[in-house]
Amino acid sequence: MGYKEDNYLNLSRSLIKKMERRNFEGYYCKTAAEALELALSLIPRGVSVTHGGSESIKEIGLLDAVKNGDFEYIDRSLAKTQQEKRAVVAQGVLAHTFLTGTNAITMDGELVNVDGISNRVALICFGPEQVIVIAGINKVVANVDAGIYRAQNTAAPVNAIRLSAKTPCYDTGSCAQCHAADCMCANIVTTRHSRIPGRIKVILVGENIGY
Ligand code: SF4
Repeated sequence: MGYKEDNYLNLSRSLIKKMERRNFEGYYCKTAAEALELALSLIPRGVSVTHGGSESIKEIGLLDAVKNGDFEYIDRSLAKTQQEKRAVVAQGVLAHTFLTGTNAITMDGELVNVDGISNRVALICFGPEQVIVIAGINKVVANVDAGIYRAQNTAAPVNAIRLSAKTPCYDTGSCAQCHAADCMCANIVTTRHSRIPGRIKVILVGENIGY
């Protein structure tokens, strides 16, 4: 292993320890392929699985593996009307497993996420029996403020382009604390503790994943 990889391992060990007292279960995988294998091993066959909007779970191949695997996949893409979309999210509340990325993870082990529609942060906070978070090493930041800054100035502008959102960050690549109709930052959520031990499982990956 190189110096950089050694550092990722050491950093992850320290984060996993800090997550323990938050009742999060932390894991470290050197590569995206290892993270995929681990994530799949954490999901019992046959259970219901849903997910938030996340490039990380797509990038490591987890979304495709779940869609094509032996799971009851809750397919959000089938919902067309507003009522159907609400029904799918409601179904997600009772899902066994929720897959997501995170906008940031602090040096103290907190998760920081911004959300527009807010189904993603809602299901991180409450509902599914377990939440599996895929976090590339690029998501690690100093503290909550740095996490919010990262979410709004690194992730949001790219998401705005991906979603064709009419927001200031689309135009300028940085946050203007908008109140636009398409605002992707309706809720800013710090997850600092899980009342249910082990409900939140964070898989840190020693590669840059997502944005
Ligand atoms: S400009 Fe609006 S949508 Fe974009 S990051 Fe800032 S608050 Fe969020």
